[in-house]
Amino acid sequence: MILHGFQTIDIYEIESNNLDKYFIEFRDYINDCEFAPSCSHIKEEKCCIKKALKDSKIREERYQNYIKIYNDLKDREEHKW
Ligand SMILES: [Zn+2]
Repeated sequence: MILHGFQTIDIYEIESNNLDKYFIEFRDYINDCEFAPSCSHIKEEKCCIKKALKDSKIREERYQNYIKIYNDLKDREEHKW
């Protein structure tokens, strides 16, 4: 699976908590996040990424893509053993 905009990175080499850094448009916001650097940007209520999404600074499609990959990575990490 190739992450859009990243050419040949194998996404399964990314740790789930680092995934946000690979989404270029997320970078402007992740440091402002109240829960940074451990925010998953999914369940957290006051997440800056979610706010940016609301303000249309991040595309819904990209965010959904993020969630999908994040869950994939998490799943793999949990089943590593
Ligand atoms: Zn966040």
